[in-house]
Amino acid sequence: MDMTQIQSAIALVSTAIGMTNQAASTADLIKKLFSSREGPDDGEASKLLNALATDLTTANVMNMQLSEALKTLSRELQRQDEFEREKSRYEMFATSTGDIVFALKAELANGQPTHFICPVCMNRDKLITYVTGDGAFKRCQTDSNHMYHFRKSPRPEVKRGSGW
Ligand SMILES: [Zn+2]
Repeated sequence: MDMTQIQSAIALVSTAIGMTNQAASTADLIKKLFSSREGPDDGEASKLLNALATDLTTANVMNMQLSEALKTLSRELQRQDEFEREKSRYEMFATSTGDIVFALKAELANGQPTHFICPVCMNRDKLITYVTGDGAFKRCQTDSNHMYHFRKSPRPEVKRGSGW
């Protein structure tokens, strides 16, 4: 979980609450002004109403930003949770040449065929990406530079003059 996202959401909460309090105290001033025995001074009343309108607009904008930040945060947490749940279905697997990938745990396969997951994508990008291929080398479906050596085999011969 990205802590800076949580921290900036919390900062937004404080600011939004501050703006709402500011609007509330301006509203209080207006109430006092209108309930005083002398009645409001027009200039003063107009100034306060303007201030209240500004306070409310600012509070609104802050609340919208806050709402967006919280939604993003919630989506991120959900994504993280799904990833952790999915990740727990895999375990480290050493190929016969010593490369490390992740393999589906047999007891959690739920009918899925055995398959392998790219450890780079999983650890770095929190992505569940299949490692596929039927030769001695298998590649990550997201980034073909993520290549894993599954078994020793004679180097494939470069085909020459194959009819062209
Ligand atoms: Zn990968």
